[in-house]
Amino acid sequence: MISREGISSILEGYDKERMKIATICSHTALQIFHGARQEGVKTIGICLEGSRKTYDAFPYGRPDEYIMVDSYRDIPVEELVEKDAIVVPHGSFVEYVGERLGDLAVPMFGNRESLAWEASRDRLFEWMRDSGLRTPRVFTPESIDRPCIVKLPGAKGGRGYTIVNSPEEFREKVKAEKFTIQEYITGVRMYPHYFYSPISKGGYEVKEGSLELMGIDRRLETIDESYRSTLVGVKVEPRFTVIGNESAVLRESLVREIMEMGAGTVESSYRLFGGLPGPFCIETVCTDDLKFYVMEISARIVAGTNLYPMGSPYTCYSYDEPMSTGRRIAREIKLAAKQNKLSQIIY
Ligand code: AMP
Repeated sequence: MISREGISSILEGYDKERMKIATICSHTALQIFHGARQEGVKTIGICLEGSRKTYDAFPYGRPDEYIMVDSYRDIPVEELVEKDAIVVPHGSFVEYVGERLGDLAVPMFGNRESLAWEASRDRLFEWMRDSGLRTPRVFTPESIDRPCIVKLPGAKGGRGYTIVNSPEEFREKVKAEKFTIQEYITGVRMYPHYFYSPISKGGYEVKEGSLELMGIDRRLETIDESYRSTLVGVKVEPRFTVIGNESAVLRESLVREIMEMGAGTVESSYRLFGGLPGPFCIETVCTDDLKFYVMEISARIVAGTNLYPMGSPYTCYSYDEPMSTGRRIAREIKLAAKQNKLSQIIY
């Protein structure tokens, strides 16, 4: 992994007045470019030929300039550095670039170490436990004594998850050699989106900085509509493939716990791997007795934030202007540049 000092020395060569925001044209790119435009920051879209037309269809969401590539695996690192670009890693960026992400010699918004912690199930569980988050119980195949969900490593967007109720059913349904078996939690899913600024004061104070709740979503997964098939007599296996997102708000009395969970996650990140500046999300299920169980942490901007390009029911209590997560990122970069604190948010 490229060192913090390595990134700092690249940043020292940057013209702070000309810095641009760059990302791959996918996932939350329209929101990131739109938010940067609102903050007066220029943008670069790393784009495949076939996608350019789609981005040009949105004059306020498209990037100011493109760098065309044949594959998203080829991040044009030198060109980005020449253009004083700060890369914003989103879900597709992390997926396409994979393990090479840590070595990319270009400044990247946030702490790239956090993405490595998110990617490994073992480390993710360590992080969740250290954060004080309640997690679903983990089972071995022999110990399954209740409904469980079986997850395969590297499975993205819920694809291929299976429900099993017993060791026999596990053996019948799961042929993979590597898997995680978790207790299936029945409840209402809520995915709060946070933004942690180590350089801001006031608001909800955590460590030296401030934690913001940017919005909440729920994912639309194939299981969510499978009751329709059941109604017409079609038997379906529950599947969890993510198709989209819908917005949600919480009972106000639960917001306190959601903030405390976010704070615990940030504090733990500083203990374990040097911090979590920027956006992140905690995937929760809230049970009937109002207990939040956490399935995952995403240490980056999540697709659910696309619901709120002009702000959410929560950001409107913090800002008197439209504030998306994309815009908040651009604002943080501007703020850090002005205060000479870029090394606290980019490493
Ligand atoms: P994940 O890959 O952890 O983001 O999970 C994808 C989806 O699978 C979630 O959005 C949930 O609908 C479902 N899911 C994952 N883990 C659990 C669990 N322990 N209990 C209930 N549903 C789960």
